[in-house]
Amino acid sequence: SSNTSTNDELITYRKQHLGKSLSLQYKTPIKMVRGAGVYLMDQFAQKYLDTVNNVAHVGHEHFRVVKAGQDQMALLNTNSRYLHDNINALAKELIETLPPELNVLHFVNSGSEANELAIRMAKVYSGEKDFIVSEFGYHGNTNLCVDISSYKFDGKGGKGAPEYTHIFPIPNTFRGKYRGENTADNYAKEVQHCIDNIKSKKRNVAAFIIEPIISCGGQVELPEGFLSKAYSMVRKAGGVCISDEVQTGCGRMGKTFWGFQLHDVVPDIVTIGKPLGNGHPVAAVACTQKVADAFANGMEYFNTFGGNPVSCAIASEVLRTVKTEQLQQNALEVGEFLKAELKKLSKKFPIIGDVRGQGLFLGIELVDDSLNPLASQTDYLSNRMKDHGILMSIDGPDHNVLKIKPPIVFSKENAKELLFYLRKILTEDFMTTY
Ligand code: PMP
Repeated sequence: SSNTSTNDELITYRKQHLGKSLSLQYKTPIKMVRGAGVYLMDQFAQKYLDTVNNVAHVGHEHFRVVKAGQDQMALLNTNSRYLHDNINALAKELIETLPPELNVLHFVNSGSEANELAIRMAKVYSGEKDFIVSEFGYHGNTNLCVDISSYKFDGKGGKGAPEYTHIFPIPNTFRGKYRGENTADNYAKEVQHCIDNIKSKKRNVAAFIIEPIISCGGQVELPEGFLSKAYSMVRKAGGVCISDEVQTGCGRMGKTFWGFQLHDVVPDIVTIGKPLGNGHPVAAVACTQKVADAFANGMEYFNTFGGNPVSCAIASEVLRTVKTEQLQQNALEVGEFLKAELKKLSKKFPIIGDVRGQGLFLGIELVDDSLNPLASQTDYLSNRMKDHGILMSIDGPDHNVLKIKPPIVFSKENAKELLFYLRKILTEDFMTTY
């Protein structure tokens, strides 16, 4: 069978023959063989509670989603130049969740493709090519996406910001450039600086792109009022506003279906990825009629796999499942419970400097008394949680933020289990002496 290699054999082969710029999770890598709901299982039938996978949105291998894909795959799969009910049905499902202005959809296969298309749309619409982006933002793996991802071009192997990319400081109110009073204004002024800088070069703004909670930057929530200020500055300069909802979308925020809705703004373009296919590669770009009309300038946009009947059947079933199982409500209730309990933990264990996020998209930042990041403690905590069968990921520029972004079927019982082991490991020597 294809499932009988030892982990050492798999690792040895990978090192030689699979892309070398990809890291493996954990010091002792795990081989996963099954998924169900909030759980993953390795080849030794060890069960893991998964707080990492924001792709398996409605639960690993959700029965109805799997069935929708299997049924359509047995019937027909083809490109979207033929009429098909599934693509229209998926467009309708998405439009129902969006503000009325955002009512044109383009279907693609990944978050990177979605942002790649959004960048092209912004360039055509504005006639400009300058982008304003947050420090530590990540928007995908293609050339254009890396060019607007400070997380990449300012990180290892990167060469700094390209000529047409303008970075403002990450609007982090805990350890960022501005804290305390007027943070939203101060960060918005930094966006204005970018605009002024672009104008001083006799150019103008193509777009401003940001996630409503900056995930790779360490689960950083935007200060209240920042986004609406930034949006009006950018629009005044003729640019479009893009909300990257690849991680934050589809109900995970709890209070709202999309992250931008937390900030009372309406973007011109919204990019949708990871959760939409529950593990199947399907993604989308929603935009206004104006943007869509401008982009239809004669050059055709064709995407072989984008919007195919199988992907659309799967994505529609994911969105219906979020609704019928009331998973946005679950993300709200379980997320608020977990956040409140984590805040209580932070009172008892000062190593937890900050607890933040919305719904089932949370972050715990580990710091010392002077707010210095504690990366090795964060790494230790994540590896010790794995020893207890709980998967947790780490992010942030200083590798000191534990992320919690499980399938949104994550229950209160799951949250209690997570808290139980966190509490236990936080008392271990390595966590208390630093
Ligand atoms: N945008 C954001 C915010 C992401 O987190 C990611 C993936 N981590 C992407 C875009 C790119 O998506 P993909 O890997 O599906 O191409």
